[in-house]
Amino acid sequence: MLLTLYKSALRPIEIKALLKLKIKGKAYAPPKESLNELAQKLDDKAFCYAALGKVSRSFSVVIQQLPENLKDAVCVFYLVLRALDTIEDDMQFPLEDKLPLLETFHTKTYDEKFSLSGIGDQDDYRVLLENYPKVVRMFKTLNKDSQKTIVDITAQMGKGMAEFAEKEIDTLNDFDLYCHYVAGLVGIGLSGLFVASRLETLPLKDRNGTSNAMGLFLQKTNIIRDYHEDLYADRTFWPKEVWGQYADNLDDFAKDPESEVSRACLNHMVTDALQHIPDCLEYLKYVKDEQVFRFSAIPQIMAIATLCKLYNNPKVLKGVVKVRKGLAAKLMIYAVSRDAVYKYFEKGLRKIEKKCKNGTPHAEQTKKQIAVIRLKIQELS
Ligand code: MG
Repeated sequence: MLLTLYKSALRPIEIKALLKLKIKGKAYAPPKESLNELAQKLDDKAFCYAALGKVSRSFSVVIQQLPENLKDAVCVFYLVLRALDTIEDDMQFPLEDKLPLLETFHTKTYDEKFSLSGIGDQDDYRVLLENYPKVVRMFKTLNKDSQKTIVDITAQMGKGMAEFAEKEIDTLNDFDLYCHYVAGLVGIGLSGLFVASRLETLPLKDRNGTSNAMGLFLQKTNIIRDYHEDLYADRTFWPKEVWGQYADNLDDFAKDPESEVSRACLNHMVTDALQHIPDCLEYLKYVKDEQVFRFSAIPQIMAIATLCKLYNNPKVLKGVVKVRKGLAAKLMIYAVSRDAVYKYFEKGLRKIEKKCKNGTPHAEQTKKQIAVIRLKIQELS
């Protein structure tokens, strides 16, 4: 915490936001004991919220601030997808067992006897799968529309993960399809849950294209940011159709991160992610409930803040680049209205534009993309 405050020392708004968030975070923090110990003594609902807090501190805080009639559904949705992703990510799990499980995992949402042991590369993930009957019982308390949405999305995602477990992300189409499976579907599912909770109305659910874009924008941002980490974990998500224009091997960029070619590829990837912003802004236009709006908007403005840091930044190619915690806190606290969101997007675009000086590779394409986004902001505001 001290180092975090120090990094924001000259930014009093960030310090204020950090302290506010710290208090909020404490109010929503999971119990201190291990999830395994908690599983022995908590009821189903308390276990689900404890598991949520253990597997994702940041999501847990925002989910718990959602309206009462929505947050249980989003909590269960998150845990079901976390369990599915744990199966996908476990590289020790033999493919002949993994593939059928990914494809049938949605049926386990009704099965109070289903649990798995020894799957998952983190303790909390393993405990979640060992105690899956608790998630199932909590799922059964949700209304039928929410249940249907969760099962439907889990089925599509599992099928998509199985498809990509055996194939590379080669073309930009593959890239968009993979991101649709693992993130676009989350956007579509959340829209379904918002409508099932009656907080939002049908037009939102019908907007599958823009719901999908909400997920794609976040997922692509993470994939660009995690280049280095994924490279050394032997996972590749950058599409060859892009990086193949700049190098023979994806790890060439890590060997020479400062070079123009490496930065050109990085900037190309960022520009590809930027194309989803107009659809994201269009989606946010249709969200009416204030808490649902914040829940939807905060990750989006975090993503644009992240892309600003990543653009033309060789550090991305050799390590970890993160948004200052103080800035993240400020965005989380102040992204309350449509106008504030447009303001933060505009700020982000200006920062990227500033980096598009003479000699910045891929700058012309980036500037064109920024112009398209500005037109959309004008149209909406
Ligand atoms: Mg995964």
